[in-house]
Amino acid sequence: MIRLEPVTTMAARMNPNWNGQFSCFDRVAKTGHQSRSVVRVRDLEIGGDEVVVMAGPCAVESEFQLLETAEAVAEAGARILRGGAYKPRSSPYAFQGLGVEGLKLLRKAREATGLAIVTEVLSEKDVSLVAEYADIMQVGARSMENYSLLEALGECGRPVLLKRGMVATLEELLRSAQVLALAGNPGIILCERGIRTFETATRNTLDISAVPVLKAVSHLPVIVDPSHAAGVRCLVPALARAAVAVGADGLIVEVHPAPEQALSDGSQSLTFQEFRSMMEDLQPYLAIQQEVRRFPRQLLAVG
Ligand code: PEP
Ligand code: MN
Repeated sequence: MIRLEPVTTMAARMNPNWNGQFSCFDRVAKTGHQSRSVVRVRDLEIGGDEVVVMAGPCAVESEFQLLETAEAVAEAGARILRGGAYKPRSSPYAFQGLGVEGLKLLRKAREATGLAIVTEVLSEKDVSLVAEYADIMQVGARSMENYSLLEALGECGRPVLLKRGMVATLEELLRSAQVLALAGNPGIILCERGIRTFETATRNTLDISAVPVLKAVSHLPVIVDPSHAAGVRCLVPALARAAVAVGADGLIVEVHPAPEQALSDGSQSLTFQEFRSMMEDLQPYLAIQQEVRRFPRQLLAVG
């Protein structure tokens, strides 16, 4: 069992001296010795010089659906295929995923396209099975504080995509990252996917400031999920552009061949054509990103 020191006071929560606030999470905090960590996944670097796009369906539904989507997103420039085989659904009556059959389809899609695979693991008992098929283990928003899952992922031999809980502060996100690191897994990618606020026009509220704050205080790569933040597909490209402009190291985006027939999250899934347009429209923002990469160093000087 990993024990963490209590660290927050109300005053610290309001403190713009971020590095002081978060430095207790010593494995994941930015230091003079470690200012940026790069997570290597097959031939890819997350947190390196390029923005890495992960895309694919919310859930793996069938071979046809997955392979068609994998080919379309690869052609448009995605490097990693997402797809849930185990789905954490808000409703107990919703589709729960294909389980190991879904994992096998993900492997098939990797063989067909060369895309790396990111997929969610819901339970510590599934860690070794999912690690056989996945290149990146996704910990979903609902599991961010499942410490027994995080501890089981410590020595799974795969990097972890750690999503921010829907009511979690950045400090709590980094605390979970510290749990993973203490458990033996240094390969951590943080993901902002929107938080629950009083606003109902979007499914969640994308906390865009999470990106520069996390990049300032932590050496870990930070990616953004505009799909679960938006909840509606028409907002996804704008949120993706914003994420790249503020310095995100990557994106994870839901794409489906026929979103209106999707078994989960169809309303926020892009069509192939919409995904292609999103990727094209990101180009100027990738140039802006090179410029903002200087900002985290300035923020660090505050601490
Ligand atoms: C997902 O990626 O499909 C998902 C369930 O995301 P989140 O955990 O962010 O809700
Ligand atoms: Mn989803």
